[in-house]
Amino acid sequence: MSRIFVHEERCKGCLLCTTVCPEEALEQSERFNPNGFKVVQQNQQSECTGCAFCAEICPDYAITVFRKKKSAQETAT
Ligand code: SF4
Ligand code: SF4
Repeated sequence: MSRIFVHEERCKGCLLCTTVCPEEALEQSERFNPNGFKVVQQNQQSECTGCAFCAEICPDYAITVFRKKKSAQETAT
Protein backbone atom coordinates (compact mmCIF):
# COMPACT_ATOMS: atom_id res chain seq x y z
CA MET A 1 0.00 0.00 0.00
CA SER A 2 1.22 3.50 -0.78
CA ARG A 3 1.08 6.18 1.83
CA ILE A 4 1.31 9.92 2.25
CA PHE A 5 3.18 12.20 4.59
CA VAL A 6 1.57 15.49 5.58
CA HIS A 7 3.97 18.32 6.34
CA GLU A 8 1.69 19.60 9.07
CA GLU A 9 3.51 22.90 9.52
CA ARG A 10 2.57 23.84 5.92
CA CYS A 11 -1.07 22.66 5.98
CA LYS A 12 -3.73 25.37 6.08
CA GLY A 13 -6.62 22.98 6.64
CA CYS A 14 -8.38 23.99 3.41
CA LEU A 15 -9.38 20.35 2.80
CA LEU A 16 -8.93 20.65 -0.98
CA CYS A 17 -6.99 17.40 -0.88
CA THR A 18 -9.95 15.56 0.61
CA THR A 19 -12.13 16.52 -2.35
CA VAL A 20 -9.91 14.85 -4.98
CA CYS A 21 -8.91 11.61 -3.30
CA PRO A 22 -10.67 8.75 -5.14
CA GLU A 23 -10.20 6.47 -2.14
CA GLU A 24 -11.50 8.94 0.43
CA ALA A 25 -8.26 8.32 2.25
CA LEU A 26 -7.88 11.81 3.72
CA GLU A 27 -9.71 13.37 6.62
CA GLN A 28 -9.42 16.33 8.93
CA SER A 29 -7.59 15.44 12.12
CA GLU A 30 -8.16 16.90 15.57
CA ARG A 31 -4.64 18.37 15.59
CA PHE A 32 -3.78 22.04 15.16
CA ASN A 33 -0.42 23.11 13.75
CA PRO A 34 1.57 26.05 15.19
CA ASN A 35 -0.29 28.41 12.85
CA GLY A 36 -3.63 27.39 14.31
CA PHE A 37 -4.87 25.34 11.35
CA LYS A 38 -6.49 21.94 11.78
CA VAL A 39 -4.37 19.60 9.67
CA VAL A 40 -5.39 16.66 7.50
CA GLN A 41 -4.31 13.08 7.99
CA GLN A 42 -4.56 9.78 6.16
CA ASN A 43 -7.58 7.78 7.15
CA GLN A 44 -6.12 4.48 8.28
CA GLN A 45 -9.15 2.54 7.13
CA SER A 46 -8.74 3.63 3.51
CA GLU A 47 -6.35 2.40 0.87
CA CYS A 48 -3.97 4.91 -0.68
CA THR A 49 -3.14 4.04 -4.28
CA GLY A 50 -0.36 6.60 -4.62
CA CYS A 51 -2.16 8.51 -7.37
CA ALA A 52 -0.81 11.80 -5.94
CA PHE A 53 -3.94 13.83 -6.80
CA CYS A 54 -3.82 15.20 -3.26
CA ALA A 55 -0.21 16.35 -3.56
CA GLU A 56 -0.88 17.96 -6.94
CA ILE A 57 -3.84 20.01 -5.77
CA CYS A 58 -2.36 21.15 -2.46
CA PRO A 59 -1.51 24.86 -2.84
CA ASP A 60 1.03 24.65 -0.03
CA TYR A 61 3.01 21.57 -1.14
CA ALA A 62 2.12 19.99 2.17
CA ILE A 63 1.79 16.39 0.98
CA THR A 64 4.49 13.94 -0.08
CA VAL A 65 3.37 10.63 -1.59
CA PHE A 66 5.34 7.44 -1.10
CA ARG A 67 4.46 4.92 -3.79
CA LYS A 68 4.92 1.23 -3.19
CA LYS A 69 6.73 -0.37 -6.10
CA LYS A 70 6.33 -3.99 -7.13
CA SER A 71 9.78 -4.59 -5.69
CA ALA A 72 8.33 -3.41 -2.34
CA GLN A 73 10.57 -0.34 -2.31
CA GLU A 74 9.06 3.08 -1.68
CA THR A 75 9.67 6.16 -3.79
CA ALA A 76 8.74 9.72 -2.90
CA THR A 77 6.95 11.97 -5.41
S1 SF4 B 1 -4.79 20.74 0.36
FE1 SF4 B 1 -2.85 21.02 1.46
S2 SF4 B 1 -3.20 22.78 2.80
FE2 SF4 B 1 -5.21 22.06 2.12
S3 SF4 B 1 -5.84 20.61 3.76
FE3 SF4 B 1 -4.83 19.41 2.16
S4 SF4 B 1 -2.68 19.26 2.86
FE4 SF4 B 1 -3.64 20.95 3.99
S1 SF4 C 1 -2.17 9.64 -3.21
FE1 SF4 C 1 -4.23 9.43 -4.14
S2 SF4 C 1 -5.18 7.76 -2.98
FE2 SF4 C 1 -3.42 8.44 -1.79
S3 SF4 C 1 -4.26 9.95 -0.34
FE3 SF4 C 1 -3.53 11.08 -2.14
S4 SF4 C 1 -5.32 11.30 -3.51
FE4 SF4 C 1 -5.78 9.69 -1.99
